[in-house]
Amino acid sequence: MRIAMLIPPFRYGADPTQWITVPPQGYGGIQWMAATLIDGLLELGHDVLLLGAPGSPARRRLTVSEATTRAEVTDALDAWSPEIVHDHSNTELLPEIETRPTVSTHHLNGIPARRHNGVYLSRAQRQAADADKAPVIRIPVNPARCTYSEAKDDYLLFLGRVSVHKGPYQAAAFACAAGLPIKIAGPAWESDYLHQLLSDFPDTVEYLGEVGGTDRARLLARARALLALSQTHGGPFGGRWIEPGATVVSEAAASGTPVIGSDNGCLSEIIPGVGIVIPEGTPIDRAQARAALTALPSPAHVREQAQHRWGHRRIAACYVSVYQRTTQQSRS
Ligand code: UDP
Repeated sequence: MRIAMLIPPFRYGADPTQWITVPPQGYGGIQWMAATLIDGLLELGHDVLLLGAPGSPARRRLTVSEATTRAEVTDALDAWSPEIVHDHSNTELLPEIETRPTVSTHHLNGIPARRHNGVYLSRAQRQAADADKAPVIRIPVNPARCTYSEAKDDYLLFLGRVSVHKGPYQAAAFACAAGLPIKIAGPAWESDYLHQLLSDFPDTVEYLGEVGGTDRARLLARARALLALSQTHGGPFGGRWIEPGATVVSEAAASGTPVIGSDNGCLSEIIPGVGIVIPEGTPIDRAQARAALTALPSPAHVREQAQHRWGHRRIAACYVSVYQRTTQQSRS
């Protein structure tokens, strides 16, 4: 098939000339998901046009468009003539008038801007969008893009936005209880929150800022465990946060690193088998933290689970079924 993939266009850092690419230079869940889905689609023999991420590396059967506005995207789609449009931008880049079959993956919380032919990352996210009949397709991972290590260093890892919702504070508290250091990597747009975290756990936390490339892959591979203690309440925007897909869980597992997570949103659906779930708000003492670490599955087991459940070719094939169904429906 000829598939056009639309990514929300985000600037990279302070440089006004650079966009976040696919895969991203640092932080970027949607960009990592698109990169691994494209890997799978290309391996299955499809052609992809990527829009909204100028500067991304092109390769055989993958064309990278310079388009970053709705008008530019409309022109690029007219020139390339895809059979299907796959939107990850919550309609930001979708042409006003829909002339082609379109599928939308929802990456956020709540009700998406476009519900028709919607795909969700978890049952929890789908339920929060009140879209119970829509398909759930998990975030893919490409094991070839991850570094696998059975040998682990003595640290825990938090990799993501340093935000109330993502639970780095609870991760630091867990590490402190376990008596292990934690490396925290990711952008910190809620600066008061970061300062609080660093002042409450000065001997436990090492804050690395945003990481990418081989540093990121090594951090994921060498950690004893990844902590994903996502929190439903307390974020800067109010309301509830229902963890939608959690890209880091499959990335850690494919790197042979088990996960300790809360039961918020998708986490209780995807962590069993690659780690353990601790209900949100459970106070953790040293004995409980140590017991949780001891109970974690082995690196080989979590790697195998990640490949089996979320391998990029398997997930790409699920999307191809949805694309085919959508194009057939639009013909009839
Ligand atoms: N990430 C990264 N470098 C960082 C922090 C995060 O590469 O310093 C990546 C991480 O590996 C994951 C993504 O950013 O692929 C975050 O996506 P996730 O779905 O976990 O969180 P959210 O999209 O909710 O922020």
